[in-house]
Amino acid sequence: MTENIVCKFGGRSIANSQAVAIIKSILDNNSKRKVIVVSAPGEIKEGDVRVTDSLIKLANIKPTQDAEYNLNILNSIDSLIERYRPLAPNRDSLGEIGKELIKRINEYEDSPAHIDAVKAFGEEACARILSESLGYEFVDTKELFLVSSDFGNARILPESEQMIKDRLKNPEKVYIVPGFYGFTKEGKRATFSRGGSDLTGAYIATALDSEVYENFTDTDGVFSADPRIIDSPRKIDVMTYNELRDLAYSGFSVFHDEAVEPVRNKGIRVHIRNTFNFPNEGTYIVSERLSDSKRPIVGVAYKEGFCSFELGFFGLNSMVGLTARIANIFAEQGVSIEYITTAIDDMAFIVQRDQLINKNNKLSS
Ligand code: ASP
Repeated sequence: MTENIVCKFGGRSIANSQAVAIIKSILDNNSKRKVIVVSAPGEIKEGDVRVTDSLIKLANIKPTQDAEYNLNILNSIDSLIERYRPLAPNRDSLGEIGKELIKRINEYEDSPAHIDAVKAFGEEACARILSESLGYEFVDTKELFLVSSDFGNARILPESEQMIKDRLKNPEKVYIVPGFYGFTKEGKRATFSRGGSDLTGAYIATALDSEVYENFTDTDGVFSADPRIIDSPRKIDVMTYNELRDLAYSGFSVFHDEAVEPVRNKGIRVHIRNTFNFPNEGTYIVSERLSDSKRPIVGVAYKEGFCSFELGFFGLNSMVGLTARIANIFAEQGVSIEYITTAIDDMAFIVQRDQLINKNNKLSS
């Protein structure tokens, strides 16, 4: 496929009742937009439940013959299916996805594979329904993504690149693909980590050598700080893959940190932009940029869950090999170091607290 753009619409872009009309007008605006990746409907306002979260709850409930149980489950399924009403062309298609969801929930087994099969349903139903409403071709990830059996954190296997090239090659078509999951060699659905539809889009854009990967969300781009903590932070116009990865890893939730790798390796530009503010430009992610002396700091992220091992004494800077010796102690304990800060007489090793708790490590005592 030559000149093409891959667009991914996030959960909040899909939840809105205007979604179908907006996606259509964005696609009509540029015929190079050939592949659409969709998430499951997310929150519209603060406090809403994401479809994926409701599915995880349903997947974990063991079916019984109890009448009250059955009524509760059916009510939950009903309200979940309601989330798709604004996207659906008619009542029949809603009925179809309702039946499919009940079937999947009833195939209950106490296994991560079952949870993933139900969890993936959010994206799959969204892509199927939008394909009917918009008239674009639905392509399931079975034909595109071969993944490892790490359910809930699946890795994309290299064979996927050729599968994508082969399946999405017709330049006359617009394809619609569900994000967030692939299929294992055994034919089971396995999801990526949360927010993983970004990864689906990034990987497809890389395989197709796209001109740009457009990541549509409900904010105007990437901001230099979290608006929930800092009032009116400024939008970043251009940043590098490495800057985005650092900030995404450390708490910026606008783009999945693992989705940076494929696009960075091939230099595919990413454009993070607002579905509801189209065609305004958002934030471009590129390999290199000129630094701006008026804004020397790109952004500041905040994330909890770290702990710091600090040491300080006079003349620490002149002790040859000290850093390596301390780093070795962490390595022996199987603890990875996230950051090291240094000054003349002080040094701190910053690690994720979870690592210490999970491994019941000697360092935690
Ligand atoms: N729906 C999934 C989640 O809530 C994946 C995604 O939105 O990208 O994590």
